[in-house]
Amino acid sequence: QQALDSGLEKTKDSLLSKLTKAVAGKSTVDDDVLDELEEILVTSDVGVKTTLKIIERIQARVARDKYVGTTELNGLLRDEIQQLLAENNSNDFASFEYGNHKPYVIMVVGVNGVGKTTTIGKLAHQLKQTGNKVVLGAADTFRAAAVDQLQLWGKRVDVRVVAQPMGSDPASVAFDTLKSAVANGEDVAIIDTAGRLHNKVGLMNELTKIKNVMQKVVPNAPHEILLVLDASTGQNAIEQCKQFTEATAVNALALTKLDGTAKGGVVIGISDQFKIPVKYIGVGEGMDDLQLFDRKTFVESLFK
Ligand code: GDP
Repeated sequence: QQALDSGLEKTKDSLLSKLTKAVAGKSTVDDDVLDELEEILVTSDVGVKTTLKIIERIQARVARDKYVGTTELNGLLRDEIQQLLAENNSNDFASFEYGNHKPYVIMVVGVNGVGKTTTIGKLAHQLKQTGNKVVLGAADTFRAAAVDQLQLWGKRVDVRVVAQPMGSDPASVAFDTLKSAVANGEDVAIIDTAGRLHNKVGLMNELTKIKNVMQKVVPNAPHEILLVLDASTGQNAIEQCKQFTEATAVNALALTKLDGTAKGGVVIGISDQFKIPVKYIGVGEGMDDLQLFDRKTFVESLFK
């Protein structure tokens, strides 16, 4: 909770200070206040569609209760955001039972620079801490740096990494990783993939090939396709989400770099627009700075 509170500080400060300004000198929530609220949400990267949804709901509350004081606005907003996240089942990870599959296979996708490698390293650490045997597959073979980085994280958190020379077939790395995971009795295999968004067909073909090859070893792999997005890029993250979800069956999201950005509202917009659960949030560069997303504590931190 503490890490989350400090991680979301910028988003919270920006949101709350703007809200305070918007209601200064006003006692009731009127159309002007709602207009300002709309602008605040859009500039916090909640996204236009989701913002309008929230505004409409607050309008309905105001219409029903006739008089809503500005002091109640924070609470109203918090409730509506909470409700919106609940509707999108952001906490529903029933299908992510690690124990049901061995190895449980996570294919990680996302463009370069969003924090993919770091997220994999942190996740490996977290899974290891909770008693799982983890292996990483360096299937981003297009960049030597990507393989090196993953190996570095493997050393740091003491987890095995399967790698081949740069330029090797990514599908072959994924295959080797799963083969050896089965042989070693490892519980979770995390496969890094290339962060190229050259074009949708290219991306789709590349990911499909990796999936097909993995299924030769583990029939229903990958159990989780985790898309990593950089929250600090705001609307770009939403655009990337659109492209990746069109290319492959993403079923979990990780939003990184929530510390140091005032754009934390993107979590709300993405969850609402794509109906894919936000599973993890990154709140720093260290190995312990990855958190399972919990909508309740998230919203509480935003309004603390
Ligand atoms: P990749 O190219 O997507 O694999 O990106 P990297 O994992 O190499 O991360 C790019 C940069 O973002 C690195 O400097 C990371 O330390 C940093 N980074 C990743 N996640 C977070 C986060 O949650 N918070 C912060 N502040 N930095 C992060």
